[in-house]
Parts: sequence; C-alpha cells; structure tokens
Amino acid sequence: MLSWNPIDRWLMGNAWIGSSIGSHVAELCDRIGVRWAGTAAEQLAIEYIANQFQEASLRETVIEPFDLQSWECNQASLAIGENQRLEVRPCMFCPSVNVSGELIDVGFGMPHDLDQIPKELIKGKIALIDAGHEPFSEPTTFPQRLRRLADAGVVAAMTPSTAGGRRTADFTVTDWRDADPYQVPLPVVQTSREVGARLRHHMSDPRVVTLQVEARRIQGTSSNVIGDLIGSEWPDELLALSSHHDTTTDSFGANDNAAGVAVMLETARVLSQLQQEVGIRPGRTIRFISFGAEEQVLQGSSSYVATHHGPEPLPRLMINLDELATGTMKGVVLQFPELRQLVQSQLNTMNEGLACHVLSQLDVSGDMFPFSRRGIPSAILWRWRFVGRHPDVAFGHSDADTPDKLRFRELKEYAGNLARLLLRLSHVPPEEWPENCLDPDEIEMRIGAERGTVFRTM
Ligand SMILES: [Zn+2]
Repeated sequence: MLSWNPIDRWLMGNAWIGSSIGSHVAELCDRIGVRWAGTAAEQLAIEYIANQFQEASLRETVIEPFDLQSWECNQASLAIGENQRLEVRPCMFCPSVNVSGELIDVGFGMPHDLDQIPKELIKGKIALIDAGHEPFSEPTTFPQRLRRLADAGVVAAMTPSTAGGRRTADFTVTDWRDADPYQVPLPVVQTSREVGARLRHHMSDPRVVTLQVEARRIQGTSSNVIGDLIGSEWPDELLALSSHHDTTTDSFGANDNAAGVAVMLETARVLSQLQQEVGIRPGRTIRFISFGAEEQVLQGSSSYVATHHGPEPLPRLMINLDELATGTMKGVVLQFPELRQLVQSQLNTMNEGLACHVLSQLDVSGDMFPFSRRGIPSAILWRWRFVGRHPDVAFGHSDADTPDKLRFRELKEYAGNLARLLLRLSHVPPEEWPENCLDPDEIEMRIGAERGTVFRTM
C-alpha cells in the first residue's frame, strides 16, 4: 500500500520548485517558433521532445514518422473594383481559386436567411457569411451552412473573423466527423471583423469582387514521439498522456499547444524522478505521446491508433492535453461514462476539489477523437465550460498565441496534479478496473448520429 501524503508532497513540491515548464515553452515558441507539421521547424520540436523523454529516462523513446497530407498557400487576396485590395486568409485546405462575382450578404447562411434571397440572385455570387451562430435559431455547423451556399450556386465565400482587433486566424471549414475531412465545401477566406463590418455597411451598392487564392495540397512527413515509464506491477497495461507539438501555419502555439507539451514533459519528469530518487514506480506503464499534425485533421493521433491498436492491447485510459492555459484545472472530462466513478474516487483522495464529468457528445476537436473512435476510454481536462475561460488566450491559431499569455503557475499545478492522478490510476488493481465494453461499431453509429450537430462550448 502506498502512502499518498508524502508522495503528493514530493510530486507537488518538485512540480513547483523544479519546474522546466518555462524553458520548454521558450524552446518551442521562442527558439523554434511556428511548427506547422511537415516543416523543418516541426522536426526540431520532435527532436527536442525526444531528447526530453530520454533525459527523463523514459524507456524505448521512439520517433515514429508517418505520411502527411499537407497544404500550403502562396498567395490570397480579394480585390474590390479597380483599386482596393484586401488581405484575406484562406481556410485550411482551401483549393486554388480565381473568381469574380458580386458580393452578397447572406447573414449567418441559415435557411431563413437564404429563403429571403431569390434563387437567381444568389447563383454565381461571392457570399459574405457570418461564421458565428444565429443567436435565436437551432445552431447548425458552419460546414453545413457553406454546403447549402454551394448547393445554391455560390462560387466562394468570405467570412469576417469572430474576434476583433483587425486580426485573422487559421480556421477549418470541414466537420472532422465527415468521411473526407479535407474536402472543403466551398473556397472560403477570412477577413478581419472590422473589414467585414465595413463591407456590410456598403452592401447597398452592389460591387464586383475578385477572389484569388493560390494554394496546393502537398505530401510530407510528420512524426509522433513516444516514451514509456514502465510499470512495476502490470508493465503490459497502459495509461497514456498525450499532447500535440504542431501549430497552425503562422502561430507560435503557446497555449495551442506548447502548454500541453510542457505539462506532459513535466509530468514525465516528476514521475521519473520520483522513481529515481524515492524508488516509487507506477503500477501499470504510463506512456507519453507527442502527436504531430493535430492541426491538420488529427493525422498524428490517427496514425498512432492505426499502428498500435490493433496489435498492442488498448490503453486503459488516455488523457489528452491541449490548450491548458485556457483556464485552471477543474477536473477530468471523459468521452464515455464507464470510468467516471473510478476516476472520481481517485480525484477525491487528492483533496483538490477536482471533478470528473462525462461529455454527452464525442469531442472531435482533438487527438482523443481517434482513440474514442477505436473504443479506447479517453479524456480531456476540464479547464472551462461556458465560464472560467481566461480572456487573453482568445488568440488561438494566429501569430498572437505567444508565451506572454500563459500562466506558468497554473501549468505547474497541472503537471503536479496529473502526476498524482496518473500514479494513483496506475496502481488501481486490474480486478478493480471496469472492463472495457466499448464497441467501435456502436461508437461509429453514434458518430453518425451526432454528425452535423454543433458541439457545445468546451
Ligand atoms: Zn491544439
């Protein structure tokens, strides 16, 4: 029987005083910078993480490459009349396009918006569409609304950024539950919220605009990094803690996701030092995984699941770390209910007021999704839901996602508490761990039923 009090004190103390979170973030964001998967910069991040795993004495640290379907954009612009040219940012995986047409305001692109516009007026036009949700209607996804525009004969769309400050950010216009999540329904570009508002105000005089995007799909290579802290009692049983190291095309990726990588590396470090200095090991093996190409439709985690599970037994649980600087740690959120009581009972012994909840919809927006799909119990951390989101991290997927917005003390707390939770879960005897009854076919049916629904704010 382990005595948790001194172990907890050791782990929290080491996570607090011995922290390397600052230097991980500085390396990833300041020295390496933008880490779009498939680039040389992403490769530097991969090597850095592998070195950190080795320094933490994780066994069998491997860099596991996979083929990457990537995309690059050379140029994008929107010309209004003869002499006005706007900088615009295409959606990820936007095809090349060169079209001219009148700009037409379609509101939120809801059925009631389109019903107001005669069919012949919408055909061949470039739509100005609000990507947010119409506040008084049953929400439908942005990809569904774009598909409706494409079906009505719209040739391209422009959408103002939902955040202010004359900025744009990388964005996706596909539903990652769909069969081909790279197939954009319509070429879409983003402009700033302010430029969008200005264009809307001048809608009464119809204007022809020309939209040009030069982009292409490219093949590349990205890698996942894997390292194990071998369990003393049940070494063949796995718990997984993961994060992704890649970023969108021009983001420094501090919150998304140097924060998650740094906390994962720290959790590995403190658990490894606990073993070396105090002689306490996890019961089952804890696997640490850093995924590539999360921002390009979860290609790293999808490749990992396809390669490993299968042949290897499924992890008992995987916890994914993403955007941890969004808020303080409030608990664990499971994708399936089976482990709720077990996880909650372990959290209770930590005496931190942390809660375990279950999502009513599968969350497709991160690397836990391929695991969920495979029938692996998976979880994310509860940082906020509707409330509790730090306002200064609302810069995701843009070059304003910088380390000055991170709260390092909160990240230290994440690492200490994750180490405590994972160590506890690793020592739950197999006979007390609920059997995995998740059926991938049933999960696929559930994903089908949930396809097209709007995910409630995390
Ligand atoms: Zn992310």
